[in-house]
Amino acid sequence: MGDEWDERLKAYEGRAAVVGGVGKDPVNAPMIRHWCEAMGDTGPAYRGPGAVAPATMLQVWTMGGLTGHADQADQAGQAERAGRGGRTQAYDELLALLDEAGCTSVVATDSEQEYLRPLRPGDEITFDVVIESVSARKTTSLGSGYFVTTRMDVRAGAELAGTHRFRILKYAPVRQQPRPPRPRPVVNRDNAGFWEGVARHRLLIQRCTGCATLRHPWLPGCNACGCPDWDTVEASGAGTVYSYVVMHHPRFPAFSPPEGGPGPAGPYAVGLIELAEGVRMVSNVIGVPYDKVRIGMPVRLVFHTYDGESVLPVFRAAEEAA
Ligand code: ZN
Repeated sequence: MGDEWDERLKAYEGRAAVVGGVGKDPVNAPMIRHWCEAMGDTGPAYRGPGAVAPATMLQVWTMGGLTGHADQADQAGQAERAGRGGRTQAYDELLALLDEAGCTSVVATDSEQEYLRPLRPGDEITFDVVIESVSARKTTSLGSGYFVTTRMDVRAGAELAGTHRFRILKYAPVRQQPRPPRPRPVVNRDNAGFWEGVARHRLLIQRCTGCATLRHPWLPGCNACGCPDWDTVEASGAGTVYSYVVMHHPRFPAFSPPEGGPGPAGPYAVGLIELAEGVRMVSNVIGVPYDKVRIGMPVRLVFHTYDGESVLPVFRAAEEAA
């Protein structure tokens, strides 16, 4: 699917998607009242004599309901024969081409409205929809596909009352991929001793031999006294969650669930763990759902082997969270 395909899709830009649409009901007080009740909007402008419709109801007046606009579509569309649901053949063709390109899934991504004139009970609504743009093929977290933007011009009588831009993504869903391997730690001269310890399932904390201050992460010198000499003490493995964040997005399948087993990419908790010895380190909190991690929660060091070869220190919740 190369540029030629993209050009074929682009050719639909500017073509009609709906021609001569007619609102099923004129703007009316009961629908305004239902909308305001559903939205919890008690604005005085929407009630009583001289009421206007909330501007954000713009699209509501164009909706075809369960039966769509097929009844009127047969009469409309002198320029282009109307297809299903009041849509033109051009729009149906575009959607069929996208299906053919493997983009069989659809998701609404966003909409924009512009308001030019308030709508009042009694206004008769007509509308047309044009295919405003078709993007080049894009890669998204859902899969690769095309953004299709349509613009609906909503009229009250002959007057343009507003426009409603609506964007969908027609995409080829991403197939279930094997879990990518966990990123490897970056080992350098300053932290090599730490990772050598981890490989032997020992969590080593650097200790300044000048002033005995413990430090983590590993550094070439002491922040407290500047002394370059150090030795290590082994962490007991006890700690508490000092702070944490939950990573929701973007999703990194390699990190979730943190135990490294099979499963969908999902949110995971990143903890700042305060070790019993006093230093803090960033790691995963495991053994508890991400949304049950709490500050102050006791945790216990475990060494987990990821992808059968990469050993990492992670922290398991010491108590079962309720
Ligand atoms: Zn020191």
